[in-house]
Amino acid sequence: MKLLMNDFVELRTGLLNHLKFDKRRIVSRLLVLSGVIGIHLDLVSRLRPQLARNLSRKMPGAFGLTCVGVLFAGLMAFPAFDLNAQATSQPELLVEYREEIITLSKEARVISAFAMIEEDTDLSRNQLIELTEIPAPQFKEFARAQRFAELLQEAGLDSIWIDEVGNVLALRKGKTGDRLVALDAHLDTVFPEGTDVTVKVRGDTLFAPGIGDDTRGLAMLLSIVRALNTAHIETDADILFVGSVGEEGVGDLRGVKHIFREGGPGVDAWISIDGGAIGRISNQGLGSYRYRVTFIGPGGHSWGAFGLVNPHHALGTAIDLFVESADAFTSYGPKTSYNVGRIGGGTSVNSIPFSSWMEVDMRSVSPARLDSIETLLKQAVMQALDDQNALLRLGDSLTVDIEMIGKRPSGELPSDLPLVQRAMAASAFLGKRPGLTRGSTNSNIPISLGIPAVTIGRGGRGANAHALNEWWLEGDSYKATQFGLLLLVVESGLVEN
Ligand SMILES: [Zn+2]
Repeated sequence: MKLLMNDFVELRTGLLNHLKFDKRRIVSRLLVLSGVIGIHLDLVSRLRPQLARNLSRKMPGAFGLTCVGVLFAGLMAFPAFDLNAQATSQPELLVEYREEIITLSKEARVISAFAMIEEDTDLSRNQLIELTEIPAPQFKEFARAQRFAELLQEAGLDSIWIDEVGNVLALRKGKTGDRLVALDAHLDTVFPEGTDVTVKVRGDTLFAPGIGDDTRGLAMLLSIVRALNTAHIETDADILFVGSVGEEGVGDLRGVKHIFREGGPGVDAWISIDGGAIGRISNQGLGSYRYRVTFIGPGGHSWGAFGLVNPHHALGTAIDLFVESADAFTSYGPKTSYNVGRIGGGTSVNSIPFSSWMEVDMRSVSPARLDSIETLLKQAVMQALDDQNALLRLGDSLTVDIEMIGKRPSGELPSDLPLVQRAMAASAFLGKRPGLTRGSTNSNIPISLGIPAVTIGRGGRGANAHALNEWWLEGDSYKATQFGLLLLVVESGLVEN
């Protein structure tokens, strides 16, 4: 019954969300539903004509009731899609921004930069391959950072430095420099040291871990610098080109957090290249909390010291309790996820371990729900600790260490913000239907601070990010680079000739 109530809550939330944000989808769902009912009635009358006649004669309400049943089941099934879908909204694109982009696109220098980008495809691909083949695991991005800095210099920038945490920064001065607009791609990959990062080229497809996420972003950035310089584009704002460290996993956005620290360079608008298609623009940050939980006991011989507390047994209980409560919690309401990603500890099969650990990732579109699921994790861990200590027959009690190893704030910027509108307008100009979406990228940090920020796509086609068989297909990906340039120039202000 509790589950049924949860479903109703979810159903209501789903319906309200649709009415508010996307009327098209609810209309299409109603059409599907009426189709389902129609097929149902048709099937009953065809397959069981006698039953249909009897039913309608003896129980006039039965058909109606069945229909209500089908309708109910259908509606119940639909919100489940919402729980899994990455919601993309299509808010209104204001005319002034559409016109601003069209005017800019007619500028001779922009036209020439666009042509440059198309001609730059071979060089850009070669640089993508070269950078992909320089390993950049977490906290070991330096070799790639150094090469990226050299390539920025070759591309025509002269003010380049590597900051305290390892970010590559390059400043392109604007006319007034009243504002600072940043264009970023991340240097790091999720792959550990020793991973084979050789790029394999088959036809027009490139295979290598990290090729798309996010080395392609770095290559785009270089291509944009070349196009700006060759086409003599002068902007009003200063532009900061960023190759950031620590975007992935345990890096915990350390590169971008450093840039937005107190006393940092003072970025006024932030654009990250770290997505897929040009049409998908992320203006919302998906928040996440990550924990490492370690149970610690004295450890000893499995027979000789039997009766000691067992950290693994406690970890098992903690996971069990957490999954039970987290499953119920995440089955309704705004999407929230949980994952025990790594576990470890112990020395041998006949030793009571002295420690047992797990790493847990929790995400939610809602900051409040992220706090709630964090509480569920802590409750489960403390309960498991008590349960294990209750079994103690000798030795010291079990203790636990709960360490937060990652915190990405969530947040959302309004769709009528100039940077967001300009990204949508630039995407529409390049023939795409722009949609706004939620991501977990470097932009989370400026977004959570209320600083205009978007994450845009790297173009082409690709899949299997974070897997060894990651691939990226070039296709018309030069358009994504043109999109990046257009957005950067419109946000930075083109200086009249
Ligand atoms: Zn990425």
